[in-house]
Amino acid sequence: MTYPWGTERRINTYSDYFRKRFGKRVQKITVDAGFTCPNRDGTCGYGGCTFCDNRAFKPSYNNPEMPIEKQLLEGMGFLKKRYRRVDQFIAYFQAYTNTYADLETLQGIYRQAIHFPGIVGIVVGTRPECVDQEKLDYLRELSQNIYVMVEYGIESLQDRTLLRVNRGHDVARTRWAVEETARRGIRTGGHMMIGLPGETREDFLDAVKKLSEWPLNNIKYHQLQVIRGTPMAREYREQPEAFFDFNMESYLQLMVEIVELLNPAFVIERIAGEVAPGMSLREGWGLRYDAVLRAFEKLLEEKDTWQGRKYQSSR
Ligand code: SF4
Repeated sequence: MTYPWGTERRINTYSDYFRKRFGKRVQKITVDAGFTCPNRDGTCGYGGCTFCDNRAFKPSYNNPEMPIEKQLLEGMGFLKKRYRRVDQFIAYFQAYTNTYADLETLQGIYRQAIHFPGIVGIVVGTRPECVDQEKLDYLRELSQNIYVMVEYGIESLQDRTLLRVNRGHDVARTRWAVEETARRGIRTGGHMMIGLPGETREDFLDAVKKLSEWPLNNIKYHQLQVIRGTPMAREYREQPEAFFDFNMESYLQLMVEIVELLNPAFVIERIAGEVAPGMSLREGWGLRYDAVLRAFEKLLEEKDTWQGRKYQSSR
């Protein structure tokens, strides 16, 4: 069976999207351009989100001391060993808040990546209160010539959760940023977390129904990793009952329910995250992401279900 996104896979995957758009496989290279975060330095808040430890997300070639070009070169070398035939890449500005500078500085940083041979686009990860009309207008201009996506940390659709994890913005601000970005025709992505304290299975299902009505193009889900040394690790030790409990099997079962409700037009970038061994208080699953995704797609097949099977648009 061919699904609405034009392939026989049961989810609308990022790799298929890239193949359709660029005619072949495209890989993302993460770049650390030395940005900081307004939720850490007092501009928006202190201490950062309680779950955050940026070391958990970074590959070894990301070093803000290294020029962007060198990071891209090393990243390409690393990815070409793993995926031999790949020759097109997206620069992914991932660490911290990648719109947290004045426009001129941002232009200089993004240009270094855009002009690098083999780079066909950029993805800019940021916080919803850290974009404005001027920055978005510039990103729209860029997006007319190159693939540009702005990826927002949405994390939860509950204000009480955002407050509890010290996100420093509310849901209304996230929605504003997503709408302003999408309105300009810039591809817009969102990152959601499953398992923030105080949230239940019902909250996750309610969130996907609401989110499916937002003007997003891409979505990424991560299970909560309780990274050692973070305020969240302390909260987890003190109040384990506040945390939704899951192992890989129950998480994938929940993801099936989420994906069934998800807007079929959304491209799914990830259904789970990976963290370096030993960093999380929770037991690792011992599998690389590719294997987790394969297990998930097998589960969809066993249940004979697919992305958006239960999606009902309220528009
Ligand atoms: S906004 Fe991002 S970088 Fe800043 S504290 Fe939160 S998770 Fe960390």
